[in-house]
Amino acid sequence: MVKTYRPNRLSEALRIREQENVIVLAGGTDLMVRNRSWSGTLPAFQQDVLFIGHLEELKRIKKEGGLIVLGASCTLAQIMHDWRVPEYIKLPLAQMASPAIRNVATIGGNICNASPAGDTLPMLYALNASLQLNTGQGSRIVNIQDFITGPGRTGLQDDEILTEIRIPIADFNRQYYKKAGLRKANAISKVSFFAVADCRHDRIREVRIALGAVAPTPVRSREGEAILAGIETKARLDAFPDLKACYEKLLSPIDDVRSTKKYRHKTALLILEDFLGQGLEGG
Ligand SMILES: Cc1cc2nc3c(=O)[nH]c(=O)nc-3n(C[C@H](O)[C@H](O)[C@H](O)COP(=O)(O)OP(=O)(O)OC[C@H]3O[C@@H](n4cnc5c(N)ncnc54)[C@H](O)[C@@H]3O)c2cc1C
Repeated sequence: MVKTYRPNRLSEALRIREQENVIVLAGGTDLMVRNRSWSGTLPAFQQDVLFIGHLEELKRIKKEGGLIVLGASCTLAQIMHDWRVPEYIKLPLAQMASPAIRNVATIGGNICNASPAGDTLPMLYALNASLQLNTGQGSRIVNIQDFITGPGRTGLQDDEILTEIRIPIADFNRQYYKKAGLRKANAISKVSFFAVADCRHDRIREVRIALGAVAPTPVRSREGEAILAGIETKARLDAFPDLKACYEKLLSPIDDVRSTKKYRHKTALLILEDFLGQGLEGG
């Protein structure tokens, strides 16, 4: 029989995390599926459970020195409805799961689950997000791409809790998000593509692009983004073989129940093409 802990304060949660062998549960939308049992019976957790989804300290959203700071237990719905959060951060959240799931699923859970198809991840990669990880003794900050180490793998230590997601705010006049899935709601991505850009006089000044579900972790090409800076907004991918090559070499999708590697590879490049054409138009 597993024990459950529901502390009232983050400090108490950190102490329990340090002293007991617990798994952290925020919204539980990944963990309840991962530990599901027969229909109508209780989920079968193998480890004691530490609930953190209710902790006020982890549910705050603030603007601080050019950053938007999201508490790890902020639900997707909470972030989507907060006026301080830039619209481009909300783009992928609006296409995740369904309203009911978005009311309980947290951003911290999506990060720590580290699925290659995790839909907040390309956005966080493109926006250079960093993460604050706390123990009872102190904290450390780590870049998202250094934290996610493989499919379902992160650098989270046994005594740590992800407490904050820090995202630098910048001026982008183009935002673009496409998710290829089986249906509109409750579909896990076959491919996802997030991009923001700053364009002036039909030229790209700066662009950031990241893709999900096409490799063991989300991918971003700084080389590709450097090629794109300065070019006209209605570029065709074929006109830039170097650019196409940059992205092609990052794509290493797999065949699985949701899709094939061929589909994922082709779709990723088609979405890139669409972004360069339609996605950068107007603003
Ligand atoms: C029907 C359905 C549809 C879904 N659709 C999508 C979708 O479209 N896109 C998508 O990306 N995902 C989707 N998901 C997956 C899931 O909802 C998300 O990944 C969600 O953001 C997970 O958050 P959570 O709070 O529920 O995580 P939990 O299940 O509570 O935790 C997930 C993992 O993160 C760890 N964890 C959570 N918070 C912390 C923390 N603060 N510090 C350290 N570790 C932590 C847990 O220990 C666990 O390993 C779907 C799930 C369901 C059931």
